[in-house]
Amino acid sequence: MLENSLPAALYIHIPFCVRKCRYCDFVSYPYNESNARLYITGLRREIELRVGGKLDKRWPLSTVFIGGGTPTCLSTAMLLEIINFIKGHFILSSGVEFTIEANPGTVDADKLSALRRAGVNRLSLGAQACTEATLGILGRIHTHAQTVAAVRQAREAGFENVNMDLIFEVPGQTLTEWQCCLEQVVALQPEHVSAYGLQLEEGTPLKEQVDSGLLQPCVEEDGLAMYRAAAEILKTAGLEQYEISNFARSGRQCCHNLVYWHNEEYLGLGPAAHSRLGGVRMSNEANLIDYMTRLNTGALPVAWSEDITPENDIFETIFLGLRMICGLDLERFRQRFGRPLSQMYPGLTESLVNKGLLERRGNHLRLTQRGLMVANEVMCEFTPTVNILDK
Ligand code: SF4
Repeated sequence: MLENSLPAALYIHIPFCVRKCRYCDFVSYPYNESNARLYITGLRREIELRVGGKLDKRWPLSTVFIGGGTPTCLSTAMLLEIINFIKGHFILSSGVEFTIEANPGTVDADKLSALRRAGVNRLSLGAQACTEATLGILGRIHTHAQTVAAVRQAREAGFENVNMDLIFEVPGQTLTEWQCCLEQVVALQPEHVSAYGLQLEEGTPLKEQVDSGLLQPCVEEDGLAMYRAAAEILKTAGLEQYEISNFARSGRQCCHNLVYWHNEEYLGLGPAAHSRLGGVRMSNEANLIDYMTRLNTGALPVAWSEDITPENDIFETIFLGLRMICGLDLERFRQRFGRPLSQMYPGLTESLVNKGLLERRGNHLRLTQRGLMVANEVMCEFTPTVNILDK
């Protein structure tokens, strides 16, 4: 049971998908009903172990995020059981952002209406691409027509906050195709878009196809052009970029992800879920059987945990803060760590500003347009190679 307080953000991982996508290395298993039932039993037990058998009133949740995997491959009844169990054990603040991830091939009008009535108020749709060719290369189970239908059904069900996830830099995808996809997505008027460059992960079928020459990877210049196209087209449509890969209408930024980017605490439940609690980072058992075995002995299913050192806390706060387009709040940083950034990294900020990679805007330090293109390199400059706390 948690000793002092709960974080204001809750993540629930649902580790099932209808079928594994060709690029995916997330923890997910092929859906079947008996494993799903087993999982729900485990999740209920984990929640009870975490908060005790009663409603925890210590800290109302401001965000709940049910992700995966594909949460919506569970039946409506199973999803409602999970949602009701959450509501029975956590206080949800009145303005809670309650997101569920969905694959367009696993929702229909009835399921979406039931979720909306149960209090889910943000739908994150894994659209990913708009042509059948690219969806096929990615190994997605859905068609673009199903994405369009899912958005319509979500609106009819009363969802006023819809995110669409997209992927670019897919082998075979052209800039023109990507621009066309963005235009089609914009026409559906989502409140939020996440656009990620494809990562070819080791061990995935897509990486093997690229490595064996069966598919040509996207070249770097095309990837940069696609990234720029996303920023331009989405901005024109009223979706402002607020994070390296995320775009939103005013007031529709994802509150749950902002918790991560501000390096604040969150509780993650379910196989492979991560938490950051009380200065400790931890991850649950990824394997469903190991997860269940731990819970069956009355133990939390934590596979590993580590204390977050002050140096790592500082680095992560900088790294995550610079992901946001508004940048790192320097005053907030000083209050959190008791010392200004400039004192911890003497000369570094100035040097990166002089190179045109960072800029000061009021109390914020942020990446420039040029810096955004090489964001990881800039962030790694702040790696704590020396004891910055001695400075
Ligand atoms: S739907 Fe998402 S989690 Fe499931 S296999 Fe595809 S990419 Fe992975």
